Amino acid sequence: MNVLTLNSGSSSVKYQLIRPDKKEVLCSGQVERIGIDGTRIVHKTNDEKIKKELDISNHKGAIDSILEIMTDEEIGALEGLDEIDAIGHRLVHGGDKFAHSVLIDDDVMETLHECKDFAPLHNPPNIKGVEAAEERLPGKPNVGVFDTAFHSTLPPEAYLYAIPYRYYREESIRKYGFHGTSHYYVASRAAQMLDKDIENMNIITCHLGNGASVAAVKNGKSIDTSMGFTPLEGLVMGTRSGDIDPGVIFYIAEEENMSIEEANQFFNKKCGVLGLSEDTNDMRDLEEKALAGEKQYKITMDVYHYRIKKYISAYLGIMNGVDAIVFTGGVGENSDYTREDSLKNMDNLGIVVDKEKNDGLRGKEAIISADESDVDILVIPTNEELVIAQETARILKEK
Ligand code: AMP
Repeated sequence: MNVLTLNSGSSSVKYQLIRPDKKEVLCSGQVERIGIDGTRIVHKTNDEKIKKELDISNHKGAIDSILEIMTDEEIGALEGLDEIDAIGHRLVHGGDKFAHSVLIDDDVMETLHECKDFAPLHNPPNIKGVEAAEERLPGKPNVGVFDTAFHSTLPPEAYLYAIPYRYYREESIRKYGFHGTSHYYVASRAAQMLDKDIENMNIITCHLGNGASVAAVKNGKSIDTSMGFTPLEGLVMGTRSGDIDPGVIFYIAEEENMSIEEANQFFNKKCGVLGLSEDTNDMRDLEEKALAGEKQYKITMDVYHYRIKKYISAYLGIMNGVDAIVFTGGVGENSDYTREDSLKNMDNLGIVVDKEKNDGLRGKEAIISADESDVDILVIPTNEELVIAQETARILKEK
C-alpha cells in the first residue's frame, strides 16, 4: 500500500509517500512559501534533491505540484496517481471529538470546521489540505491523524483548568496537548531501543522544535503534557511565550491598547526566544551566540532550558520516578547544548548525561546517559509521517 502523508501548514505543505508495512519512504518534500513570494517545492528521492520555483498561490496548487513531481516521467516515484492508495493527514486539533484517527467523511469535515477556533493557526490550513486532496484525488480515502489524540488519556486533574466548571462542561475548555504523534512515536521507539515493555515504563518525552512540548508517558499512555487548550501553554518556544502569569497578558494588552486578537498574535508570534533575545527564533543562531558568551543570548537559552528542566522535574514527581527521558524535534535531536543544560545538576535524581556520547550528536538515534545514570536518556529523531501512514493503513484495514 502507498500512503501519501500531508502536513498542511499556513504557508507550507510537507509530504511523504510511504509504504507503511515496509517502513519505506519512496519520496518526500515540501512546498514552501505558499501565498507569498518565492513559492517553491523541495523534492527528495532516494538519490537526489530537487528545488523548483512554483507559480501557485494556494493549497490546491501545492497539492497539484506535489502530485505532478511524484509522477514525473524522469524523477517520479510513481507511474500514475492510481498508485496512491490513501492519503493520511496530520490534523492538529481534534477538540474533544476525536480521540483516535478517523476516516474523513462529510460529518468529520463538519466537526473539523467546528474545531477551527480551537487552533486558529493550524486547523484552517489543515482543512484546506484535506479539501485540496479530496478534490485532486477524488475517490481516494483520506484519514485524519490528530496531534491531540495521544493525549486523550490525560486524567481530569491534569486536563482541567481552575476556572468555572461550566466552561469545561459546556465549552470543552480543557488541556488537550499537541505533538501527540511525535510523543507516541519516540516513547514507543525508546521502549524498543531499550528492549523493555512500554506497558511497564515511565517515560518523559521532550519534543523540542520551533513549537515545543514535554509529555509524561506512563505504561504507554500520556498522563500529562505541557501544551494546553492551545499550543501556547508550557515550554518557552520559538515565538510563543509558553507558561505565563495571565496578569502579564492583561497588563501588556492594556498598555499597548491591543485587541484580544492582537494579544493572541503577540503571545504566539512575538514572544518566546525571539522576544527574549530581541533577535531571532533560530535556535542554532541563539546557541552559537550564547556559547560565545553574548549575554542576551545566554539568558535566553538559560530561560529556555530552565523551563524544560522544570517540566521534567514535575513529571518525575507525578510518575514517582522515570525509566527514560527522550529528546526529539529539531532542537532535541540536534542540540547537545540543550540536552546537557536542561538535565544538568540532576544527578541526585539519577539523571546523568554522558558528555562524550552527547557532544556533537546530531539527528541520530542514540542513548546518551552515563553508566551511573539510573535513568536512560535517549535521542530519537521523530517520525510522525510513519505513524500517520501506519494509522492510515490500520484505519483502512478496519473499514
Ligand atoms: P522543528 O520545528 O522540529 O523543525 O525544529 C526547528 C528548530 O530546530 C529551529 O529553531 C532550528 O534552529 C533548530 N535546530 C536545527 N538544527 C539545530 C542544531 N544543530 N542545533 C540547535 N538547534 C537546531
